[in-house]
Amino acid sequence: MNLLKSKKAFEEAKQYIPGGVNSPVRAFNSVSVNPPFIKSGKGSKIYDIDGNEYIDYVGSWGPLILGHCHEDVMEELRKVLETGTSFGAPTERETELAKLICEIVPSVEMIRMVNSGTEATMSALRLARAYTGRDLIVKFIGNYHGHSDSLLVRAGSGALTHGVPDSPGVPADIVKNTISAKYNDIQGMKSIFENYGDRIAGVIIEPVAGNMGVVPATQEFIDFLRNITKQYGALLIFDEVMTGFRVAFNCASSLYNINPDITCFGKIIGGGLPVGAYGGRRDIMARVSPAGPVYQAGTLSGNPLAVTAGLTTLRILRDNSKIYDELEEKSRILEEGFRQNSEKIGIQTVSNRVGSMLCTYFTSEKVYDYDSAVKSDINKYNKYFEEMLKQGIYLAPSQFEASFISASHTMEDIEKTIKANYNALKKLV
Ligand code: PMP
Repeated sequence: MNLLKSKKAFEEAKQYIPGGVNSPVRAFNSVSVNPPFIKSGKGSKIYDIDGNEYIDYVGSWGPLILGHCHEDVMEELRKVLETGTSFGAPTERETELAKLICEIVPSVEMIRMVNSGTEATMSALRLARAYTGRDLIVKFIGNYHGHSDSLLVRAGSGALTHGVPDSPGVPADIVKNTISAKYNDIQGMKSIFENYGDRIAGVIIEPVAGNMGVVPATQEFIDFLRNITKQYGALLIFDEVMTGFRVAFNCASSLYNINPDITCFGKIIGGGLPVGAYGGRRDIMARVSPAGPVYQAGTLSGNPLAVTAGLTTLRILRDNSKIYDELEEKSRILEEGFRQNSEKIGIQTVSNRVGSMLCTYFTSEKVYDYDSAVKSDINKYNKYFEEMLKQGIYLAPSQFEASFISASHTMEDIEKTIKANYNALKKLV
């Protein structure tokens, strides 16, 4: 694989952008290949500036459930682009998107658009604190909710891969209000609530954690969280930035049959443009400015292009009921293919999958929380990643990320990927 132009581009980028990238994981820090610089994408494929083609399982880290450059999304974007890029004034389309999300997700009665997942979770915490009049927040080790101060504690994703769960520059005074708990650990949560229950504003969770690979919460754990937060008057906040409209059309909350108090969104609801949102119960959301006193704002929030990409994506998902069944089937075949390859070759792997989110760990033990996730042999993953890339399969350059299957992946893509997986695993033994 020739990456000469990408290498040169990366060297130049490093002169002007910290690490050459605008988000850490893109630098391929944990692996020994240079990141390909991407020129374009179409459907399930991306193309780099050296002319290499890849089957893409990153999908811009989740938003592109329909694949790259979906024709209807592009067409709508073109139309809106002609009318202007931003007004900083209300548009009807914003209400259409808000209404659609409220119709799809039963626990969301009102919603506020922001520009990223980070903003969504950060604002949700402020709202939970204001609503309850309390300061403490509980988050789970290995869950990632973006890079705001309160939440950059024992985080997953890039913060996990790079070994800096706590970033310098995060004031201890702020983090003292964040309690880190073990994922899927009911006993641990019980004792946290026994000790701090009347001071806890909210519990924020990735219901299916996608930032330590793929680790679903158990039904019992989610049920327990719903009950204990209610009992102590704390809010339950679902971070569905990744799982929203990904693991099911009605989001992860429908898989668990749970109504969280606040839900954070991002990724898919922006259709590949910069978007986040937080929504929930009317009496809670009514506290947000200017309806209420909790301040939160954004120059580009509800941006016409971003809202259009999201709205079109959600409408396509709503109107094509087969999409999720097909995603499930393709993803199941991929997972099963990987499992059979591991067996044939005699290498121990564990694949966790929820719908079209998949992660393969190099371990023999069940992965159900942070401690079990980090038992995976990272060196093996890194080598595996490189062997896959050489064969034109673009996975996340880190063990602790999910692979995303999109509606545009064909059975041919899936079969090619299973073959590549076989070849890559073979190289590891
Ligand atoms: N929450 C979750 C669950 C995420 O996966 C991410 C990003 N991967 C975020 C929040 C932060 O979103 P953003 O990168 O858009 O700020």
